[in-house]
Amino acid sequence: MNIVMAASEAVPYAKTGGLADVVGALAIELTKLGHHVILVMPDYRGRAAGESRQLAMRLSIPVDGKPVDITVEEENVPVTGALHRLRVLFVRYDPYFDRPGLYQQDHHDYPDNLERFILFCRAALEIVRGLMETRGEKVDVLHLHDWQTALCAVYLKTLPHEYKGLDQLKVLLTLHNMGYQGIFPGQQFAKLGLPPSLFSPSGLEFYGSVNCLKGGIIFSDTVSTVSPTYAQEIMTAEYGCGLEGVLASRADGVKGITNGIDIDAWNPESDSYLPAQYTAADLSGKRACKRALQRELKLPNRDVPLLAVIGRLTFQKGFDLLIDVIPELMSLDIQTVVLGTGDHHLEQQFIAAQARYPDRIGLCLGFNEGMAHRIEAGSDMLIMPSRYEPCGLSQLYSLRYGTVPIVRRTGGLADTVIPFRPSTIKSGRATGFHFIDASTDSLLSALVLSLHVYKERQTWQSLIYTGMKVDLSWDRSAKLYVDLYRGPQEGKKEN
Ligand code: ADP
Repeated sequence: MNIVMAASEAVPYAKTGGLADVVGALAIELTKLGHHVILVMPDYRGRAAGESRQLAMRLSIPVDGKPVDITVEEENVPVTGALHRLRVLFVRYDPYFDRPGLYQQDHHDYPDNLERFILFCRAALEIVRGLMETRGEKVDVLHLHDWQTALCAVYLKTLPHEYKGLDQLKVLLTLHNMGYQGIFPGQQFAKLGLPPSLFSPSGLEFYGSVNCLKGGIIFSDTVSTVSPTYAQEIMTAEYGCGLEGVLASRADGVKGITNGIDIDAWNPESDSYLPAQYTAADLSGKRACKRALQRELKLPNRDVPLLAVIGRLTFQKGFDLLIDVIPELMSLDIQTVVLGTGDHHLEQQFIAAQARYPDRIGLCLGFNEGMAHRIEAGSDMLIMPSRYEPCGLSQLYSLRYGTVPIVRRTGGLADTVIPFRPSTIKSGRATGFHFIDASTDSLLSALVLSLHVYKERQTWQSLIYTGMKVDLSWDRSAKLYVDLYRGPQEGKKEN
């Protein structure tokens, strides 16, 4: 198939979270499966020197009633094991994208984010038009990700005269996190250049504001999210973040496809970020990684359980619960390492905790890809107390690196970690620990249970081994996306 994927971030070019991992890896996997994939993304600051990009298009894009001249640059990326290359098209408009952050600076969203992503969405559609009309290429599917690209569906379906010729295009919107919807003051609706009638409850209006994601959900042909449990959860008021009714009104529902991981980039056998490599059969390298991690984060080299915390420091991730249990945590003989960035208050609390327990807590504030790999490898367990988690990637990396995940039973965490129970241990399926309530008691109980099991070396080894053997590759999930692209009719024809 000919797939255009529009996203606001993708590895290896720009990343603030799991979205980038998913888009980058899915694009590669689809290419390996023989599909022609074009990834369209903004050209942010920090492009590596010497990259071979070519000018592909010059476009004039309407934003807030004014034409904006942009360029589109193309890079062709070889994909191991694929017959053709992955094409990446960068939307270049420096006043909008050549900035220190992707969406914000100093924890504040850019005030012109609506204009930035109107431009990006309109540009993505013009690129598709250019490919089809000027270059005679075929495009079957436009795959959108999150609110930053949701307006593509709105423009395409509500301005048929402007986008004539693109009406055969199937549009899939994947929801990576309902907590981010692209909500802007209602007065800004005019900037979109859409019919005023769309500023209504059956359109983009949301309690007096403009809601980009809502528009995407209404006007996309198909909507998916990143795990089956999250697909169900977002139909409820607790998880739908106000859009549960809009989601439930879609006759075809929301499909849940669990994310895979890039098993080449995240491979303890070959990971060059690590001081030592290892396999499930020989974990001596993992022990070396633990010692090196203790050194790197200035913790004493002691043979005690090492608990990892990795992620955006936000309310969603539930790290405040962890802060609340630090006194109890410190009464246990364990060490904790924390890698994260985000909420200023949470950062301050972790700094204070580390200052109080310098021998017990290792802290790395900031975004550090190599450190994420070294923590995944060097730790014994990883905790994810998320209030909600669409899929979650850190626990998947943990499984692959023999680090046992302790997770709150929600969304993708519930789908990807098989909880320790007598039955799952007996059948050799357990890979981690669950807790149900987003409460300190619940979190502590799971942690204490894991520490007991840690002492039963054979059981712990079997948790590690089972986790390391789980198939986390994109292969299966990418094929499920292809089924979605084809749609129910064509899918049936194939069978
Ligand atoms: P989300 O997308 O909600 O942030 P995920 O678990 O889906 O959460 O993905 C998080 C990704 O970001 C993982 O690849 C994780 O390793 C990475 N990550 C999160 N915080 C950091 C950080 N401070 N430094 C490096 N990588 C990080």
